[in-house]
Amino acid sequence: MKKNRIPNKIYLAENEIPKTWLNIKAFMKEKPDPMLAPSTYKPCTYKDLEPVFCKELIKQELNGTDKEIEIPEGIIEFYKMYRPSPLIRAYSLEKALKTPAEIYYKYEGNNTSGSHKLNSAVAQVYYAKEEGLTSLTTETGAGQWGTALSMACAFYGMELDIFMVKISSEQKPYRKAVMETYGARVTPSPSDKTEIGRKILKDNPTTGGSLGCAISEALEVSFSKDKCKYVLGSVLDYVILHQSIIGQECKAALDKYGIAPDIIIGCAGGGSNLGGLIAPFMADKLEGKNNIRFIAVEPASCPSLTHGRYAYDFGDTGKMTPLMRMYTLGSNFIPSPNHAGGLRYHGMSPIISKLYHDGYIDAVSVEQLKVFKTAEMFAKTEGILPAPESAHAICIAVDEAIKCIETGEKKKILFGLTGNGYFDLSAYIDYNNKTMTDYVPTEADLQNGFNSILDIPHNK
Ligand SMILES: *Cc1c(COP(=O)(O)O)cnc(C)c1O
Repeated sequence: MKKNRIPNKIYLAENEIPKTWLNIKAFMKEKPDPMLAPSTYKPCTYKDLEPVFCKELIKQELNGTDKEIEIPEGIIEFYKMYRPSPLIRAYSLEKALKTPAEIYYKYEGNNTSGSHKLNSAVAQVYYAKEEGLTSLTTETGAGQWGTALSMACAFYGMELDIFMVKISSEQKPYRKAVMETYGARVTPSPSDKTEIGRKILKDNPTTGGSLGCAISEALEVSFSKDKCKYVLGSVLDYVILHQSIIGQECKAALDKYGIAPDIIIGCAGGGSNLGGLIAPFMADKLEGKNNIRFIAVEPASCPSLTHGRYAYDFGDTGKMTPLMRMYTLGSNFIPSPNHAGGLRYHGMSPIISKLYHDGYIDAVSVEQLKVFKTAEMFAKTEGILPAPESAHAICIAVDEAIKCIETGEKKKILFGLTGNGYFDLSAYIDYNNKTMTDYVPTEADLQNGFNSILDIPHNK
């Protein structure tokens, strides 16, 4: 008998949206090292973090024991506006590659903000509102996080100040327009609105900015206002917790057809989509239930896992955040301005860093011309114009599928298609006009960043 054909899109029903987030940390026998308070180098307590972050989010950040954390009904209601997201079998891509491999991707670009970031934005704003806050500040790089947070803030009635990396705000004026339509105030960073912004501008007047700078500015403003806190769209453990919705939906959809992936691939900027995508699969791997290969893909121009140091570092350029032990290029590292593909953060989620350090995850880097070439091929075959960030994952999925041609293996490859590329058209214009170039940081560029890593006993 002919086996049931796996459909192009495997949808879940609305009532199959997971009711809990999966806390990957609770499955790790060795936990990531704790955050340290920068004044004492002692592990951060709830009290240390309270001035900066929302209360419920701190509890989630520090929770290393509960495997599942309930998703409040109010957040599930919001999720229903755009979830469950489809899991797609890349039949056309497989055919174009002539690979015996099966390729699947989870598409998170089907909401106005255009990426997976909304999954955590809604949770963070929900808890901020519950806590009685009236405004939030944040940074945004490529703009997806700022857009997602603007949507969530508009929904829950919260004011929002966004510091947007200057070079991005110039490359993506339409993103800014969307954020402003949802009611957010958007300031290109570094700006003269903050002390740290003015200092950065004085030291480096032509800088295109970086996420690290923008975080410092957003933090400074949040400290200066009442009932205002700062929220972050990646890196932190609680963001990965929220993003576990992606992996859980994915697993539920795959299970319907008895599909067990061999390789799972995600692009890695701060590590949140990767952490969320792999969460249930990694939980099983940590319990010895599967032998999936996990691959993090990063840009060659900002290679924190593949070229960074595993050290305690600040999350921002102004050195205001707690110290996190992570793979880092140094908080002063600023990727080359010609890098158009997002994923420009100097550090990496402590959870992903630890899993990588302990050998549970592999990492590779790719140059941007290859990324855009693959993005073009993907758009032509699968029909979706991918975000450049997502195209990093596609690149390695394609590489792995091509390897299967040689070996004849029918590997099942799953990757995260984190977003669409409709706001990345200036990068696509550069690519189409052949003005895009590759840039790989030199030893001197890297050393310059490493020099900003603290020389403390914890880093010996
Ligand atoms: C922000 C973003 C990323 C990278 O962030 P992670 O925290 O590493 O997931 C990847 N893809 C898209 C579309 C994004 O918006």
